[in-house]
Amino acid sequence: MSVTLINRSGRCLALNLPHAAVCASDVCHCTVVAGRPPRRICASLSLAAEAAATGLPESFLSAPEVAALVRRGELEVRRHPPKSQADAASAPKRPRRKRGESP
Ligand SMILES: [Zn+2]
Repeated sequence: MSVTLINRSGRCLALNLPHAAVCASDVCHCTVVAGRPPRRICASLSLAAEAAATGLPESFLSAPEVAALVRRGELEVRRHPPKSQADAASAPKRPRRKRGESP
């Protein structure tokens, strides 16, 4: 599921998305800078007042700064169900093949 975050705070927001809060073992949103040892820079999100960021992973809501702003109503969250769900509800699509026709 993807989410949209809308800045309702009336000011510009810069949100840190710490690795421990928003990344999973198979999905990391951080930037890794080469070096010895390599450094990991956590993802961040800047939102101007009344701006919306769409298509974000739901895990971003786990970031402490994001969660606090959502609780205070300064950040509006809209959840979008995956598109495949709506497709499955209508009609199952199968490739049509005429009888006797070779593939
Ligand atoms: Zn990460």
